[in-house]
Amino acid sequence: MNPEDQAWQSQEIIDAAATLLRAGPICSDCLGRAFGKLGHGLTNRDRGEALRTVLAMLDVAGKHGTCWICEGLFERVEEWATRTAAAAQGIEFNSYLFGVRLTPRLGQMETVLAERFSSGLSEPLKHAFNREVGKAFEAQLGRGTVNLTHPHLAFIIDLPQDAIELRILPLYIYGRYRKLVRGIPQTFWPCRRCRGRGCETCNFTGKQYPESVEELISAPFLEAARSNQAHLHGAGREDIDARMLGTGRPFVLEVASPKCRGVDLASLERRVNDAAVDKVSISGLQFVSRETVALVKEANANKEYRALVAFESEIQPDTLTEAVANLVGTVQQRTPQRVAHRRADRLRERRLLEAEGTLLSPSQAELRLRSEGGLYIKELVSGDDGRTNPNLTAVIGVPACVLELDVVAVSSDAFPD
Ligand SMILES: [Zn+2]
Ligand SMILES: [Zn+2]
Repeated sequence: MNPEDQAWQSQEIIDAAATLLRAGPICSDCLGRAFGKLGHGLTNRDRGEALRTVLAMLDVAGKHGTCWICEGLFERVEEWATRTAAAAQGIEFNSYLFGVRLTPRLGQMETVLAERFSSGLSEPLKHAFNREVGKAFEAQLGRGTVNLTHPHLAFIIDLPQDAIELRILPLYIYGRYRKLVRGIPQTFWPCRRCRGRGCETCNFTGKQYPESVEELISAPFLEAARSNQAHLHGAGREDIDARMLGTGRPFVLEVASPKCRGVDLASLERRVNDAAVDKVSISGLQFVSRETVALVKEANANKEYRALVAFESEIQPDTLTEAVANLVGTVQQRTPQRVAHRRADRLRERRLLEAEGTLLSPSQAELRLRSEGGLYIKELVSGDDGRTNPNLTAVIGVPACVLELDVVAVSSDAFPD
């Protein structure tokens, strides 16, 4: 930029500022933010006051009264900061984010300003206000930092309602659970009859099953984090009648609206394990970000199973060994009949990676299987009326069914541990 351009631009700024000043009463924040992209280390108020001084020397005086652009909003920054600090009282946090909902009139004023006084240098009202309230809030509390992506608290200043909306962002805790008994679902199941409202069948609990892995794990966390809701996101789920053994299944516990965040994971792990003894145990807890939820849920984990299988008639050991070996490879599976009421009927292909069988008696065997995620083991054994191919029943020529199923490993490189 040559000196002449510079001089011309300076004049343009003075003229634009004079136009704004003559248009009506304007606060220094709004005058300054019209040129918000100019200069470093300045507040909009600094810019506005400097322009006002220069214009006063040129005999351009401002008008008195409430700012016609922001209607005095910037004069209320401290007041909003005080109200926000009061709303956040008793809640543990060290990062935050401000947002603002403008009144229709303020929204229109922003449009008018952009159309009539477009300098290309201005900062939007929302940006400027959020930043200034944040600064004042931090100064009043003496702590906290802005975090645009993962704040602990989000404040929405709702100008039309003259209210503050406070959102406490969830806590996310990663770990693994083992389910040591059969008959417990992974997550809360609403009663089939009343759909969770409470009825005589469910003894007015709203639940189909009195306990779930989710509830057994959540209880101590809710208390420690002073929250009243938590959700367990599992890396897949075992059937209700299957156990989850070995090193356990990865999960992320999402604790909603925690008033305390500094929870002690080691002591919570002990509390869960003591309270749910012989039912559920957890291990390897760590704090994670919300992105880990999708990572854990969508990981295509390999699974290892132990299945106790019964045959309708007696089997020879060699027959079993050969039949089980023949199952390894690609398995085509139509959605099992037992889940067809809640899953779309489609054909899927999953690989059975390893399989071994040992006869425990002439008509019972233990199978050890390793497969890609999503292979239905009960149907691999029964055949599900020909909907799964190959299947043990067809290969061995004797109807077979799973009596007991345990998941013994869930593994993927995507998991954080
Ligand atoms: Zn203003
Ligand atoms: Zn019910």
